Amino acid sequence: MRVPFVDLSAQYNCIKADIDKAIASVIQDAAFIGGKYVKDFELAFAHMYGVKHVISCANGTDSLYIILKMLGVSGGDEVITVANSWISSSETISQAGARPVFVDVHPDYFSLDEAQLESKISPRTKAMVVVHLQGQMCDMDFIQSFCKKHNIYLIEDCAQSHFSEYKGKKAGTFGIASSFSFYPGKNLGAYGDAGCIMTDDDLLSEKFTMYARHGALIKHQHQIEGINSRMDGLQAAILCAKLPYIHDWTNRRIENAQYYNQQLLSVSNIQIPIVRAHTKHTFHLYVIKAERRDQLAEFLKKEGIETAIHYPTALPNLKAYHYLGHPPQDFPIATSLQDKILSLPMYPELTEEMIAYVGNAINRFYQ
Ligand SMILES: *Cc1c(COP(=O)(O)O)cnc(C)c1O
Repeated sequence: MRVPFVDLSAQYNCIKADIDKAIASVIQDAAFIGGKYVKDFELAFAHMYGVKHVISCANGTDSLYIILKMLGVSGGDEVITVANSWISSSETISQAGARPVFVDVHPDYFSLDEAQLESKISPRTKAMVVVHLQGQMCDMDFIQSFCKKHNIYLIEDCAQSHFSEYKGKKAGTFGIASSFSFYPGKNLGAYGDAGCIMTDDDLLSEKFTMYARHGALIKHQHQIEGINSRMDGLQAAILCAKLPYIHDWTNRRIENAQYYNQQLLSVSNIQIPIVRAHTKHTFHLYVIKAERRDQLAEFLKKEGIETAIHYPTALPNLKAYHYLGHPPQDFPIATSLQDKILSLPMYPELTEEMIAYVGNAINRFYQ
């Protein structure tokens, strides 16, 4: 049996009629950039989240950059973020002119360890980018009061946590602004690059929109120099067509995770994902911690099962951050996880049969 890591065509085949119709409409209306479809998506997504503003943009990296830039993050500032994430979470901090300050990860959740935040504060700290990695939210009670206490902005990177929840409140609704990616493989994915910013702040919403549209809210009236970061009509229409299915897909991911757990619970050589209390983990990724990880991945590959690593090198250990001067021992947990974490195939269309096949292969490897 072949079990791909993700299978985007499986999803397309389930909703082909909706998608084809959406694409045809955009072409028929020639609404390629801006226009009705983009507006429709912004409103629909804002409505689902119960927030005032959704500002579409080109991808989930620009959205972070635009937020940081328009919050006034600049040279001399420090911004706290997590040592294990996709590089967008930290490169945008540098692009805004500030210095990323990394926090090690929690050994159970593989994402930001709240207990270490206090030691990262300096008089230069201006903001914090919290990343709800794998679809699992951080301890938001703690993080909100931490940011309030130190008077720093809380920004959420929700690229992996569409519709995740903490105590019944959705990821993306805790900070001053939040960032979403609709990269094709995310839980809500377009058919190309796309992203958005979410905020309840009217003034910031204007600033974000202005900056993403060349610094102009009205054509030719450029109040500042901005950037060109737009969602195109085709992506917006595709995302709109997918919205009615997103809750079903999320539930399928959660069910798939539970089924994986059943298959893997008894394997003492691996640790299955630990879900934080009071959260809804939406399983963008199903990440295990495995002994002899590389051999396991190699074995699974031979059995036709694709896996991935998120991420093989912790951010501060990347060459890009050598200038910060951190030895790997500065981030002992993130560094040790580099050789242990393994992401198993995870998507709504994964069948129980496929999961049983993966579970069986892992059991056999360790026997
Ligand atoms: C995917 C991702 C991004 C970037 O999104 P793009 O749309 O690819 O630019 C940012 N942060 C995290 C945590 C991600 O997983």
